Amino acid sequence: MASSATIKAIESSTVHQIQSGQVIVDLCSVAKELVENSFDAGATSIDVRFKNQGLDSIEVQDNGSGIASHNYESIALKHYTSKLTSYDDLSELQTFGFRGEALSSLCALSRFAVVTCTAQDVPRATRLEFETSGKLKSTSVVSGQRGTTVIVEDLFHNLPVRRRELERNIKREWGKVINLLNQYACVQTGVKFTVSQQPTKGKRMVLFSTKGNPTTRENIINVFGVKTMNALILMDLKLELTPTAGPLSKGKARAGGSAAEVRVLGHVSRPAHGEGRQTPDRQMFYVNGRPCGLPQFAKVFNEVYRSYNASQSPFIFADIQLDTHLYDVNVSPDKRTILLHDQGQMLDNLRESLIELFETQDVTIPVSQA
Ligand code: ADP
Ligand code: MG
Repeated sequence: MASSATIKAIESSTVHQIQSGQVIVDLCSVAKELVENSFDAGATSIDVRFKNQGLDSIEVQDNGSGIASHNYESIALKHYTSKLTSYDDLSELQTFGFRGEALSSLCALSRFAVVTCTAQDVPRATRLEFETSGKLKSTSVVSGQRGTTVIVEDLFHNLPVRRRELERNIKREWGKVINLLNQYACVQTGVKFTVSQQPTKGKRMVLFSTKGNPTTRENIINVFGVKTMNALILMDLKLELTPTAGPLSKGKARAGGSAAEVRVLGHVSRPAHGEGRQTPDRQMFYVNGRPCGLPQFAKVFNEVYRSYNASQSPFIFADIQLDTHLYDVNVSPDKRTILLHDQGQMLDNLRESLIELFETQDVTIPVSQA
């Protein structure tokens, strides 16, 4: 382009679309954002419904708080959130959401609607429709129970290249989204979590559901079956971290230089369970109950496990519990990447503790016989 071309601002609707495409990148991001909003709303029942594996629609219905009418105008506006009040709160974050970007992004990238009802309004629910900018377009009264249903149809209909990619890769995308929902269903105790799918022609089928169980053990049984559970051992590892100076500990963490404790709680395959090969996608990691990808942790688990049982990958359900000052979730818009302070020390410690755990199991087979 000629150097004399005038530099102009991009139209705000285009900027909105570009930025939205960074928050909502695929089916997984839609499911994740909607399910997390339902958890944040205190739901004890969450129903995730796909039509045509999400290509036609994704609906998430919950029995949470509902949305009060004075918030209708703002829920889909960019950077409007009811969850975070100041930047300091980021380090103390207890809710999943805090960026106020998900609903606004979905408005820009799909045919989007919300049906919501607070306890006071039952049985009068309100259906809300929005412009692509996130501005409220219309409201109408419908009948409903307490809670919120978010409806996302024709994802990426206005981004043809992204839409074609989604359709082309739908098999892989579908596998990923089901794994992610497994991950939420297993970790959330006290929540009835149901996932169903309806093909374009045919009946809706429930893919899996949990029953509002008090323990993750029962959740795992609901999702993966009792046979899988019987092949697992309970894990409760305590990793002692000696204090080091680091960017995330600045001033706040571990005042006085005391050692921090990290717990790794969950379930892992017995070193020899003989149940046939477990697929690696049954490896679920969390930080304080927040599902996330922790490839370095997975690597340690797999390496240690293989030194006891070289023929199989382990099933892993591991919740890393630690002080909120020891990590940062604000790294990527999808919040799945988590920056852990002192990860190297944690991993060394984890390796030792896992070996200790497996050593005390009497069912191990030496590598030579595996
Ligand atoms: P964030 O979750 O970061 O606040 P979102 O765009 O996901 O941003 O949601 C915007 C706001 O809409 C939330 O802060 C919340 O007040 C409201 N909201 C969204 N989903 C639900 C839901 N399922 N139940 C109740 N309120 C909701
Ligand atoms: Mg949210």
